[in-house]
Amino acid sequence: MTPRFFISPDSLRHERVTLDAVVAHQVRHVLRLQAGDTILLLDNSGWEFEVELEAVGHDAVSGRVVDRRLAGGEPRLRLTLYQALLKADKFEWVLQKGTELGIAVFRPVLAEHCVRGDVSEGRMERWRRIVQEAAEQSRRGRVPSLHEPVSFAQAAQEAGQSGLSLIAHEQERGQSLRAWLSAHKAAPSLALFVGPEGGFSAGEMALAAQHGLAAVSLGPRILRAETAGLVAASAIFYETGEMG
Ligand code: SAM
Repeated sequence: MTPRFFISPDSLRHERVTLDAVVAHQVRHVLRLQAGDTILLLDNSGWEFEVELEAVGHDAVSGRVVDRRLAGGEPRLRLTLYQALLKADKFEWVLQKGTELGIAVFRPVLAEHCVRGDVSEGRMERWRRIVQEAAEQSRRGRVPSLHEPVSFAQAAQEAGQSGLSLIAHEQERGQSLRAWLSAHKAAPSLALFVGPEGGFSAGEMALAAQHGLAAVSLGPRILRAETAGLVAASAIFYETGEMG
């Protein structure tokens, strides 16, 4: 499989490309590629560039663009996951697996029952790297966006204004995710809210209803907070024909 890397669009302005230090390290020391080998570079525009390496030296790694094509790998449905903050390792799991599944935007949410409430800039940086590496590995055409955490109230308002939105609620008895999807299969974009281990509070569910978020059940079993978003995203992409 040809190695893939997301790089800054500025590096891809010309036919000849010099790789930044991080990608150069991967090429030279990790993959041990040589002049004449091919890599794929993506600039997050939805295009991919096939590059033949010309020089793999200590000072610089450079190559020449030999082909340019649409990257593929992006679902038609733009899914935003509003995931309540979880313990760091659980949240990282959601980011990595959610990227593999095809989630386009991650929005961490500070919900009432969250056990943690702060995310340092260093941690956001680490999370961005996790998302980028997962996007490269899973052959996404774009790196999903990871936004700064927001309060539940802000998130509900934002999602309510931007279009169709769902909130997974274990106490919902009237509407299943499946039934909701059968009526909305052609939606171009969708927001999905998933709560923390302690679940959403009654106040948050009332606010969600006020902003037009549709409450859905994911079945009679209670899923862990880090499982629910991934299961719902899989079901959504399956129902919308994105899983082969
Ligand atoms: N504390 C709650 C309880 O014990 O009943 C469980 C919360 S659950 C671990 C965490 C989140 O996953 C919920 O806020 C919800 O968004 C989602 N979730 C888990 N199971 C679900 C289900 N069967 N239907 C809908 N949402 C579910």
